[in-house]
Amino acid sequence: MAKILEIAGATLIDGTGRAPMEDATLRIVDGRIAASWQHADRPRDAAAPADEVVQAQGRTVIPGLIDSHCHISYGEGKSAEEVDIYGGPEWAAVRAVWNANKVLQSGFTSFCDPGSTWNVAVTCRDAIESGMFPGPRIFAAGRHIAADGGFADYFPGWLGMPVSAEGVLCSTLEQMRKEVRMQVKNRVDLVKISGDSQAQDRDCNAGPCMSDDEMAGIVQAAHALGRKVTIHSRYAKTVAAAARAGVDWVIHASYMDPADIGLLRDRQVPVCPTMTYTANIVQHGRDVGVDPNYIETKQRELDSLVTVHRRSIEAGVPMMAGSEAGFSVTPYGQWHSREIELMVELLGMKPMDAIVAATSGNARAFGWDRQVGSLLPGLWGDCVILDGDPLKDIRVLGDARRILAVYKGGVAVDRTPVAPRRRMGHERSLAVSTSVLTR
Ligand SMILES: [Zn+2]
Repeated sequence: MAKILEIAGATLIDGTGRAPMEDATLRIVDGRIAASWQHADRPRDAAAPADEVVQAQGRTVIPGLIDSHCHISYGEGKSAEEVDIYGGPEWAAVRAVWNANKVLQSGFTSFCDPGSTWNVAVTCRDAIESGMFPGPRIFAAGRHIAADGGFADYFPGWLGMPVSAEGVLCSTLEQMRKEVRMQVKNRVDLVKISGDSQAQDRDCNAGPCMSDDEMAGIVQAAHALGRKVTIHSRYAKTVAAAARAGVDWVIHASYMDPADIGLLRDRQVPVCPTMTYTANIVQHGRDVGVDPNYIETKQRELDSLVTVHRRSIEAGVPMMAGSEAGFSVTPYGQWHSREIELMVELLGMKPMDAIVAATSGNARAFGWDRQVGSLLPGLWGDCVILDGDPLKDIRVLGDARRILAVYKGGVAVDRTPVAPRRRMGHERSLAVSTSVLTR
């Protein structure tokens, strides 16, 4: 017997960018969306009575949200050492499944983890998919592929890059290709390149840490095996090199040269600007003891991000919504939707466009658009019922009290305890996940 759920009478925002449908009913059969209709226009093939009807008059229903930038293995770490060294794979994996549930409870039914310590994101994905733990659908990368002196190569040369680190150090093209093949064998969904050099970091004008041939070689090796590729690239020269190398989307692009906007637009390379992490440090860094120089650097980065990506959006570069949840300034379950708010507040996007970026836009970049990201028939019944209209006030998406219900595959998510209110990484409760490691 099919299990049938109907959510009736709500305003439906379907994630495609189409105008909202008022007094709509969404019908989910065996976890998949079967139909939606307005008023009493029930289709003939939706005649079988539902097992459960959720009355949602006056509410808004949106697709389950997607965070394209959430590091589930980082455990809300405060430093490179906490993320890269302390813990161990067992601890990181257990902590990850615990934290993944917070992401789901906040209305994010899917996320991309573009860079994991150990192979934790893949493990977490599989544990959730197998039904062992509640959590979102995860599009999982392994460790960043990093070159000498690049982003993720944080420690002195005499220490090297520990096996526990978020990056894996590859000094030659052959090592990079081998690492791609190894990661695919270990069942990653995508490959993450650590693109920027760490040289001249303060001047914000450094370039890539690897040659064009190396970058293209990684992309080719991953694409040949049917995997997507993304890249950490803040600097202008790295962004341009990444677009030419054929990466599937670019993360940050903070100091992108406006002259390269055409390159990204013509190739339709999406950008995930990841403003939340940067804005949180700017807005709250002083309160939580962040080095003032770092705060100043982040302020410059935020200014640059906003300036260049207002122009990118105007030119037609696709935008993705990713928060960089996973650090102490971006705890899990609390800040994912802040990115959508910042797209409206800082980038001037219409709320509908920001919602599309965080639903079907992100799903399309993963190659998941026939699975999640909109409320079209055939897709998974992932949706959120809101008390309020996010088109009038986008902050509804981040208000745990106004998220009335979350469904993943047509099943209501247990939200007890409800997702906690937003906070920064200075409260005692937050320190539990990391400080116990050093005792
Ligand atoms: Zn990241």
